[in-house]
Amino acid sequence: MNCVDNKNNKELFVSKGLKNTKNRNHVLELLKEAEVPLTAEVIYLKLKVLDTNISLSTVYRILEVFIAKDLVVKSSLSEDNKTRYELHKDEHSHHLVCVNCKKIQAVFHCPLEAYEKAVEKETEFNITGHKLEIYGYCPECQRIIEKH
Ligand SMILES: [Zn+2]
Ligand SMILES: [Zn+2]
Repeated sequence: MNCVDNKNNKELFVSKGLKNTKNRNHVLELLKEAEVPLTAEVIYLKLKVLDTNISLSTVYRILEVFIAKDLVVKSSLSEDNKTRYELHKDEHSHHLVCVNCKKIQAVFHCPLEAYEKAVEKETEFNITGHKLEIYGYCPECQRIIEKH
């Protein structure tokens, strides 16, 4: 079971054989609240507000541990090649990326399930997943561009 949402942090850490530390809790909470994948730098800046002693390397270490324990997955958008991190969830989502301001928004509707089945049938592949990124201009950027 990878469903991170249904357990509290402490239970989750215990079930993964991890110590329940303050920083690990903070990182997990941030990722739970985030609708989109976050870079380590963004996580670091948000955590610094809660704990001024935290360092960027601590954040990376925590993320690596979470990845090793299947709590977190890396996701890099081809747009800028920055590594981002998100919770490993059963829920399927894709990302809309604004090509102007680079804002990322999650979309939870996936149109590819029927397509995957059709491709499996056709190719005899056992399909395990796909990546889909959608690009465009967000509403704010459209407004800015119209004004100029
Ligand atoms: Zn934008
Ligand atoms: Zn999908």
